[in-house]
Amino acid sequence: MYSELKTSTRILMGPGPSDAHPRVLKAMATPLIGHLDPEFVTIMDEVKTMVQETFITKNHLTFVVSAPGSAGMETCLVNLIEPGDEVIIGVNGVFGGRMVDIAERCGAIVHKIEVEWGTVISTDHVKKALEKCPKPKLLALVHAETSTGALQPLKEISDLVHNAGGLFMVDAVTSYCGIELKVDEWGIDAIYTGTQKCLSAPPGLSPVSFSDKAVQVLENRKTKVQSWFLDLSLVKNYWGGAKRAYHHTAPVSSVFALRESLRIVLEEGLDNRWVRHQKVHQVLKTKLETLGFQYLVEEPYRLPNLNSVFLPKGNDEALLRTKLLNDYNIEVGGGLGAFAGKIWRIGIMGESCTNNHVNMLVSALEDMKE
Ligand code: PLP
Repeated sequence: MYSELKTSTRILMGPGPSDAHPRVLKAMATPLIGHLDPEFVTIMDEVKTMVQETFITKNHLTFVVSAPGSAGMETCLVNLIEPGDEVIIGVNGVFGGRMVDIAERCGAIVHKIEVEWGTVISTDHVKKALEKCPKPKLLALVHAETSTGALQPLKEISDLVHNAGGLFMVDAVTSYCGIELKVDEWGIDAIYTGTQKCLSAPPGLSPVSFSDKAVQVLENRKTKVQSWFLDLSLVKNYWGGAKRAYHHTAPVSSVFALRESLRIVLEEGLDNRWVRHQKVHQVLKTKLETLGFQYLVEEPYRLPNLNSVFLPKGNDEALLRTKLLNDYNIEVGGGLGAFAGKIWRIGIMGESCTNNHVNMLVSALEDMKE
């Protein structure tokens, strides 16, 4: 016999998922309806419009992939790349590396711009890469590299890629709805995100958006997209089009939750939300530095919502993190890849981005010191 499902009430301050608003959890418990029920089709339309609003885009091809952020990444790459295409990908952490892996599986010739983890890719790096690969099909960057806490500037690089005739692709999994992000204004042609970070919805969905230029590339493909599930020529008729055709069974409850989380973001306003993340970051930063933590990333490129910090000397990070979880119910993240065992990644994202969260964490850290 298995016992009834029961989990501890955690305070989520890691790299995601973040705490969800009770309204979002309540929406998720709404009784199921069919995924082709006219009421659900209306809900999909509303979600699509709210995703356009939060991406700040008019892109017609904007929808939600029924799978987590990695599937959004894969959707962009498998649809835009054909075997033999040359692409440029920035790698300054785990997720740039993941894009390279996927692009190579698509048969692309990948030109990597590799820089030290914790730093960002500059216009000079891009110019150099464009000398080696002057006509890339696309250039892809991670806006907010969750493995290091680095914030990648995008606008100037977008101009460079467009001048070279390529598409500009962006991973916005950790930045979406927490940090300034303007898809149309910044000339982003393909973008994907996740629901579990600054949007504060449950994990498992990936909003994506494609510019008209990207759509043209899709329409001019000579080869079939090698993934059936992620092939936009098939799935786009499910999320758009005059006549909705069955493609797969949408995760109805998750879409309910997503709709509510988007409503909450739009009620607060994107600008206010970006400011809130900055303000709470400043409070957290001051307190962490007083306790002896040191930031990994230099100030101008530091993510406000994902704080990567070295612990004060003499602390066993894994032991302290376990104690924080077991004794205080607070989750923070450990390091990934090159920084495993070396840093903490403290998330203040969406519903987890409040002064109260900072106070709970700091009080627990002070308590553990005594
Ligand atoms: N890209 C970035 C920057 C991420 O932080 C993550 C997840 O943490 C992903 C992609 C992959 O998203 P998911 O874990 O939802 O598949």
